[in-house]
Amino acid sequence: MAATASSSIAGTGLTLLNCFSSSSSRCRTRSRSVTMAVSTDQKPKTDKLILRKSEEAFAAAKELMPGGVNSPVRAFKSVGGQPIIIDSVKGCRMWDIDGNEYIDYVGSWGPAIIGHADDQVLAALSETMKKGTSFGAPCLLENTLAEMVIAAVPSIEMVRFVNSGTEACMGALRLARAYTGKEKIIKFEGCYHGHADPFLVKAGSGVATLGLPDSPGVPKAATNETLTAPFNDFAAVEKIFEANKGEIAVVFLEPVVGNSGFITPKPDFLSSLRKITKENNALLVFDEVMTGFRLSYGGAQEYFGITPDITTLGKIIGGGLPVGAYGGRRDIMETVAPAGPMYQAGTLSGNPLAMTAGIHTLKRIKEPGTYEYLDNITGELVQGIVEAGKRAGHAICGGHINGMFGFFFTEGPVYNFTDAKKSDTAKFAKFFWGMLAEGVYLAPSQFEAGFTSLAHTSEDIKKTIAAAEKVFREI
Ligand code: PMP
Repeated sequence: MAATASSSIAGTGLTLLNCFSSSSSRCRTRSRSVTMAVSTDQKPKTDKLILRKSEEAFAAAKELMPGGVNSPVRAFKSVGGQPIIIDSVKGCRMWDIDGNEYIDYVGSWGPAIIGHADDQVLAALSETMKKGTSFGAPCLLENTLAEMVIAAVPSIEMVRFVNSGTEACMGALRLARAYTGKEKIIKFEGCYHGHADPFLVKAGSGVATLGLPDSPGVPKAATNETLTAPFNDFAAVEKIFEANKGEIAVVFLEPVVGNSGFITPKPDFLSSLRKITKENNALLVFDEVMTGFRLSYGGAQEYFGITPDITTLGKIIGGGLPVGAYGGRRDIMETVAPAGPMYQAGTLSGNPLAMTAGIHTLKRIKEPGTYEYLDNITGELVQGIVEAGKRAGHAICGGHINGMFGFFFTEGPVYNFTDAKKSDTAKFAKFFWGMLAEGVYLAPSQFEAGFTSLAHTSEDIKKTIAAAEKVFREI
C-alpha cells in the first residue's frame, strides 16, 4: 500500500509534493491537501456496497477519458478503489448507478448550498431555457446577478462573469498585474487558484521560494514571478516584500483554505496582509471561489471584516452550472476590456442558464437564518465526528465555519503543512470507504474541505454521526 507523499489539490487532483498549512482559531481545523496515494487494491472492505455497474462504467470510462474522469480528484486516487458513478442527486442525497443512496457532503465541491436539484431553481431554469440557452449577447439576467453580487460582496463594485473558478483567477491575476504595472505575485503553499500556469507552483519549504512549475507543460517562464509563502506565516510574507521591493503586484490567497482541507487564518493574518499590500502599492486578492456566499452572504471578507481589492467567485454563484466571476473596486475593474485595455473574453460568459441558477440560489440563501442553520448543523456534525473518533481512540481534530468543514486524523492543532502531514491518511482511506458503505459520501481525500447545505437535516447529521461511530470502531 504505497503511500507516496504526493498530494492532490482540491477538486482537481493536481499532484503536489508538498504543502499545507492549517490553522485553527475559532474552529479546530484541518489542513491543506496532501493526498497520499493509495493503491487501488487498497480499497477497504465494502461488502455492503454493490458497485458492479459503477465498476463496469469506470472501466469503460478509462478507455475514453484520461484516468476515466474529467477532473482528477474524482478518480479516488487518494483513497484507493475506484469512483462511484452518480446517476442523480436531490437535496442532500446522491444515488449511484447501482442504486446506492448517500448523504452527500461534497455538494458538487461547493455549489450545492441549497441542496441539489432544488425545485425552484429547476423551474426557473426550464423557464429560461424556453428562451434559449446562450445568446452570445448581453441579457437582463446578467444585470440582475451582477447587482446581487455587488450588493453582497463588500469589495465588489463591478463584476465580470466567466465560466469557471480557474478563469476567474486567471482574469484577476492579469488584472492585478495590468493595474499595478508589476508582475510578481505572492501565493500560499497549498492554496489552489485553478489550473492556470502562474498558479501551478510547487510550494517549497523555504520562505520565498522562487516558483518551480508543479506540472509538466507549465513553462518555467510562467511561474518565474510566482513567490510562495506558508499560509498563516506573515513573517514570511514580510521577508518576500523586503526582498522584492516595489515589485510585488499582488498577494493572492484563499482567505480560508479549503483546497487542502479546511484551514482558517490566524487572528491578524488577513489584516496584516491588507496592511502590507496597501503599504507596498500591491493589490490583495481573495479567492472566494469556495468561501464566497458560503462562510456568509458576503463571503470570508464579510465574515472577517477585511476587504480585499479584487475577489474571485465561482461555485455557488452559478447554482451548479458552470460559472466564475471576478470583481473589485470600480477604478480597478475599469482596466478590463472593453472599458480598459486588459483583455479577457468568453463565448458562454454570462449565459442565461448559469445566471438564472445563480440568481435563484442567491435569493434563497439571502433569506434570514441561512448561516445560523448551516452553523448549527455543521457544528453538530464536526463535533459529533471528532468526539466519536476520540471515543474510539483515534487521534482526530476538526473544525467548521458555517457550511464549510474539515477534519484530520491527527491530534492537531494543524497550522501548516508539517502538522497536516502527521495525518494518518491510510486510516482516512479506511474511514472514507467505511462511511461510503454506511451511505455517507465524503470528499475522497483526507485533505479536502466538506460542505453542508440547507437540505441537510438534523436527522441526516445524526445518521452521519452514528455511521461514524460505527466505522471508527471498525478501523
Ligand atoms: N479557486 C478556488 C479557491 C477553488 O476552490 C477552485 C476549485 N476548487 C478554483 C479556484 C478553480 O475553480 P474551477 O474548478 O471552477 O476552475
